[in-house]
Amino acid sequence: MKNITVIGAGTMGNGIAHVFAMNGHKVNLVDVSQDALDRAAATISKNLDRMVLKGLLNEEQKAATLANLSTFTDLKPAVTQADIVVEAATENVDLKLKIFRQMDELAPSKAILATNTSSISITKIAAVTNRPTQVIGMHFMNPVPVMKLVEVIRGYATSNEVTNAVMEMSRALGKVPVEVNDYPGFVANRILMPMINEAIYTLYEGVAGVEEIDTVMRLGMAHPMGPLQLADFIGLDVCLAIMRVLHDGFGNPKYAPCPLLVNMVTAGRLGVKSGEGFYFYRPDIKELEVAGNFKQLK
Ligand code: NAD
Repeated sequence: MKNITVIGAGTMGNGIAHVFAMNGHKVNLVDVSQDALDRAAATISKNLDRMVLKGLLNEEQKAATLANLSTFTDLKPAVTQADIVVEAATENVDLKLKIFRQMDELAPSKAILATNTSSISITKIAAVTNRPTQVIGMHFMNPVPVMKLVEVIRGYATSNEVTNAVMEMSRALGKVPVEVNDYPGFVANRILMPMINEAIYTLYEGVAGVEEIDTVMRLGMAHPMGPLQLADFIGLDVCLAIMRVLHDGFGNPKYAPCPLLVNMVTAGRLGVKSGEGFYFYRPDIKELEVAGNFKQLK
């Protein structure tokens, strides 16, 4: 599978494009926003520089990686030659259904249509296409160039042949694929998000402050990052969207998103990407500093 199209050039899309291009694939990166494409190209170049500095890549390999990348704001010219499309657009079910209908119409009939969704049903996405056996979840982890895992999610109709091809391709990218079935949250977010949501409830109920909660989980459970910092890193809007999928999908009140999470997303406090979540992320603040709203809490 030589030609890859990546749809969405945000946090995940730029990382997915980076990894495919570095492994010799021709990558067409598509976004509705030219700004997002420009930011993605700059991020990929910066991350490649970092790899050169660490001795993981030489200048020629960096140049070859960048030469493998093309950017598009229009879907049509970007998918007509695709062997596989990896969709990594915003986590919104209606948007994803629309993109998959378009891709089904425009991509070659043999192409595999994959989604990097964190939680939306692969079976539901596949059902709007005329090729449900060729639709699959390819859930990369953030940051994509660094994290080894790819959760490969089989929809109800996904064929063995397509599953095996995606498992093999993930290994060729230097990743470790794990095959799972299509139920809300799959495995990764079925377990991770309720833990993050519970950490937010713990803060909301005043059991402890931001730093205290994160310190307990870092030092007590040997997590590399506390759950509130991790939520900021993932994006609180993404966390909320996933909790809603778990809540709707299982109909169990234990998955109800914490009202504090809902409020923060409504207020635009989305974590790293908006400059503030449970912590501040601003160029003038070098150390990790608890955001204003939570400073008083102990
Ligand atoms: P993001 O908000 O950083 O980027 C999404 C991008 O999609 C934006 O640049 C937006 O302009 C673009 N987009 C929106 N509509 C589009 C369209 N019709 N065509 C092309 N591009 C379009 O989001 P993200 O964090 O990169 O998440 C992308 C996907 O990856 C989501 O499904 C998310 O659940 C999943 N995911 C995210 C993480 C994470 O840690 N952020 C981890 C694993 C999976």
